[in-house]
Amino acid sequence: MITKPNGWGEPELEWEQLFTKVRARAATQEERKRFGELHVARAKRLLAAPIEDLYDVVDVTMQMSVPARIHTSLPCAECGEATMETRVRLLHGQHLCPPCFEARLAGRSSHPLPRRQPAAD
Ligand SMILES: [Zn+2]
Repeated sequence: MITKPNGWGEPELEWEQLFTKVRARAATQEERKRFGELHVARAKRLLAAPIEDLYDVVDVTMQMSVPARIHTSLPCAECGEATMETRVRLLHGQHLCPPCFEARLAGRSSHPLPRRQPAAD
């Protein structure tokens, strides 16, 4: 639908002047009352108008976006949250969700990084 340039009627000078004053909070009580009357009359005209007087209805061609690829989910080894396989981080053979991976690296995890065994001599 395309709004017709004059679909909403000819410009109404009194309505426009009052609208400007009301919006600027510069209107008197009488001007606000008159604006309200004009505004309601305008709204009633629009609501009663046939739609083809207000809009041009035209066919449009739209290009649909490519559907998102669905990946399988793997459970996080720490919290159990199902995590899309493309987001899973692998750490010491464990599949971790991103927050658990970051926590593990920062040492905030309940399952800290395994200590490196000193090399045997
Ligand atoms: Zn997790």
